[in-house]
Amino acid sequence: MALVVQKYGGSSIGSPERIRRVAERVVATRAAGHDVVVVASAMGDTTDELLDMANRVSRGPGPARELDMLLTSGERISNALLAIALTDLGHPACSLSGPQAGVFTTPEHGHARIVDVLPTRVRQELDRGQVVLVAGFQGLCKDTDDVTTLGRGGSDTTAVALAGALHADVCEIYTDVDGVCTADPRVVPTARLLDRVSYAQMLELAAHGAKVLMPRSVEYARRQDVTIHVRSSFTDRPGTLVTTQEPEMEKPAVTAIAHDRSVALVSVTGVPDEDPARSARVFRVLADAGVEVDMPVHKSSRGRVDLSFAVARGAASTAVGALHAAAEEIGFAAVTSDHHVGTVSVVGAGLCADVTATVCETFAALPARIRLLTTSELRISVLCGEGELDRAVRALHEVFELSAGRVGEVATVYAGTGRGW
Ligand code: ASP
Ligand code: MG
Repeated sequence: MALVVQKYGGSSIGSPERIRRVAERVVATRAAGHDVVVVASAMGDTTDELLDMANRVSRGPGPARELDMLLTSGERISNALLAIALTDLGHPACSLSGPQAGVFTTPEHGHARIVDVLPTRVRQELDRGQVVLVAGFQGLCKDTDDVTTLGRGGSDTTAVALAGALHADVCEIYTDVDGVCTADPRVVPTARLLDRVSYAQMLELAAHGAKVLMPRSVEYARRQDVTIHVRSSFTDRPGTLVTTQEPEMEKPAVTAIAHDRSVALVSVTGVPDEDPARSARVFRVLADAGVEVDMPVHKSSRGRVDLSFAVARGAASTAVGALHAAAEEIGFAAVTSDHHVGTVSVVGAGLCADVTATVCETFAALPARIRLLTTSELRISVLCGEGELDRAVRALHEVFELSAGRVGEVATVYAGTGRGW
């Protein structure tokens, strides 16, 4: 008998019919003799709808504490409905909120991090023969005694954290695609399903636009040695295992292409070079404003430094505002931001100069302009115009021969908007 944690995303439980279908899948797992802990997201687009409602009753985004009280209700509803459906199928089930399940977090509303999982109550209910349903994406901060949320897509992290704390045999993440693919099948129809991917490569994919898993859940899984099995809730196809992988092959191997439309390019030009503290100040100001910087380029010529980097599009105005507030001490000539950009990332192992050259040649042949380029052994990322992004993804997928038909199976999209959350 195994202990299985199953996480269901919003589109997998988007309607009463789908909730019943998921309940049947849970029953089948129980019938195979396994203990089951379920973590469900809010139904369909509930989280976005609740946010829209908050915006309609107030002129600003609203107090962060109240937003967390509001948003955590989405997961309470879906998990309770699943428990009701399971009970109707004759299976004892018990739904728990994140705090009841012993998920403890830091105090930051909207983006708290899990500090501890003490699943005593979950264990008790399992020992009573119940299926336990835990509301994802939420926890309790002991210092403030308030409910918190873990950031968008946070149910993945709840599931992995519980799997780690319960020493579960596997954490199954059920979603609306077959598993982790060589590219987003909505953009590349011939994208292939990967049967296995390493934590390291999955982290690169997730952090650069692949919406299938929240990046933090992958980090957590690697640290706690939790095997993640990404599967479709709409079929019985085998899905993708995210786990430690055999030693990498000697030759460079491209595994998949990720892309991200939710970025902006920020440039700071004309920072005086004679005082290096000034350009360092740019990054300190951004860090203090909570803005994550990706693909930074630092170019010094004729006594001036120009800096360019990518930020999340939603953080671009914060970045620009923070830099303007520090204009005097930094002494830049101008700060600009461009929202009509995106990034495409080639992820693999042992990526070398030859792969970088192929990426650049592929852009040249499109033709599409490379605005920023960064490379590492695991990832080559290009920032380009948003209008060129899909063509670039398809061309790179083709050049690196990732399509189905060569090996493996075509991946299918069953539902969802592709927004990922
Ligand atoms: N319901 C939350 C969201 O939409 C959490 C999740 O789905 O994982 O982001
Ligand atoms: Mg998700």
